[in-house]
Amino acid sequence: MIRNVETLVVGAGPAGLSAAYLLAREGREVVVLEQDPVHVGGISRSVDYKGFLLDIGGHRFVSKSEEVVDLWNEILPEGFIERPQISRIFHGGKFYSYPLKAVEALRNLGVVQGASCMLSHAWARLRPIPQPRTFHERVRNQYGERFFSIFFRPYVEKVWRMSCDDVSPGWMGHRIKAFDPLSAFRAALGLKPRTGEAGKSFRYPRRGPGMVWEAAAEKIRARGGRVLLGRKLERLTWNDKSGSWTVTARLANGEVETFIARNVVSSAPIRDLVDLILPKPISLLHARELRYRDLITVALIARSDRDLFEDTCIHVHDPSLQVGRVLNFRAWSPELVPHEGYACFGLQYFCLEEDGLWSADDSVLVDLAKREMAAMGLAPQAVVDACVVRQPKAYPVYDEFYAGQVRIVQLDLETTYPTLHLVGRNGMHRDTDHDHAVLTAMLTARNIIAGRRIHDVWAVDEDARYVCSGTPGESAAPESERPVPRRAA
Ligand SMILES: Cc1cc2nc3c(=O)[nH]c(=O)nc-3n(C[C@H](O)[C@H](O)[C@H](O)COP(=O)(O)OP(=O)(O)OC[C@H]3O[C@@H](n4cnc5c(N)ncnc54)[C@H](O)[C@@H]3O)c2cc1C
Repeated sequence: MIRNVETLVVGAGPAGLSAAYLLAREGREVVVLEQDPVHVGGISRSVDYKGFLLDIGGHRFVSKSEEVVDLWNEILPEGFIERPQISRIFHGGKFYSYPLKAVEALRNLGVVQGASCMLSHAWARLRPIPQPRTFHERVRNQYGERFFSIFFRPYVEKVWRMSCDDVSPGWMGHRIKAFDPLSAFRAALGLKPRTGEAGKSFRYPRRGPGMVWEAAAEKIRARGGRVLLGRKLERLTWNDKSGSWTVTARLANGEVETFIARNVVSSAPIRDLVDLILPKPISLLHARELRYRDLITVALIARSDRDLFEDTCIHVHDPSLQVGRVLNFRAWSPELVPHEGYACFGLQYFCLEEDGLWSADDSVLVDLAKREMAAMGLAPQAVVDACVVRQPKAYPVYDEFYAGQVRIVQLDLETTYPTLHLVGRNGMHRDTDHDHAVLTAMLTARNIIAGRRIHDVWAVDEDARYVCSGTPGESAAPESERPVPRRAA
């Protein structure tokens, strides 16, 4: 049976569900297709393992966009809690406050190394590399080579699985942006009050991030929309005559469902989407160049009468350990850990699907996680259970070429298919927090309601600010810098 629908949304993550909710709220007809057979929420889902709720990212609900915060509150009017933000860095066998505190950093690094960091910082400020071309050069300019090589290189290379010399200077993680060595050392000398995250807090849904997106899916259904799980997008065919899309999705049992849609909103990874469009887009080869990184979370459930540590997160910079971050789920919300006397830790391993780690047996990963907890001196008393969650395409890769490739795909799809809308993280190849995904979805819903692109979703920046250029589709690069598409084979 073929079903007609005004708007078909691919993906029930924050972007897809936000767009669908806003359309359904306006009485628009909407169907969401989600490949996951159980969860909504995408990367921001709450995975239920025997009642323990796992937030595989560790999702703080923080945004500079009031509109986004209002939408979160509208979707989940009750259920947010305020949590203290406590995290530390583990490096060289020692713990450091995050952000770094000068006295502590000096004590841990030693006076000689600390002084050499400050000298190299001063040198970098005096003699910056003109027009930094890589992440390494940009961070070196800002913080100095010594700080870069001690604190940033090992962690960034662990998280990115590539050399800092190949990472685009466009990527600046929040922690890297937040770190200011000069003010830290000034504070050590008593010249300026110490600033930091101490005393800071963040909002969090008490049953993990998925709680918001489960509520969104319910609200969509209550307004007549449909959220269909276990449906993987298989083909997207453009019908030039009717100006509509024929969309097919495959179910786990092999069945195929077909929809005719006026608009398609996609939060699926660009590389996958472009491969599924017929006729083949001319930007196909460019989309195929886009790369992703993957994430494994090993959850260790342990008997524990007291908290081993109160941090929500420990960032493991130490290059001798493979783990990137350790999340203490009870510190995020006590409701993530339903049983008294237990703790649950999520060890995040950043990897590539082609890595040995991704395909390693669950038991091997659990043993590795236990060993690495012990190496940090955080071994829980008795690990009684464990589970492994693999998240493919957790991160869009920012290499030297990604921006040009994405721009070509964007221009090609926007000009050829005015009713195809890309939204969200992998949907737009943007390594951003989920407020960015939500805002792009909001603008898209408005475009669909208006019947034309009145807003340029590509003008939403990484802080979820809509930097409106006034001319939709023209904000990212001037005409002269636009790359030229290669024709698909
Ligand atoms: C480790 C980590 C930590 C993070 N921490 C934070 C944080 O603290 N705060 C914050 O705001 N953000 C955080 N984020 C970012 C946040 O997770 C994402 O921005 C957000 O989930 C993006 O939403 P999305 O809907 O664009 O994409 P996704 O969450 O990826 O959802 C896309 C959905 O589309 C589905 N899909 C894909 N392809 C198909 C297909 N072919 N057919 C059908 N369905 C398909 C997927 O299954 C998925 O459900 C973090 C991310 C990571 C990886």
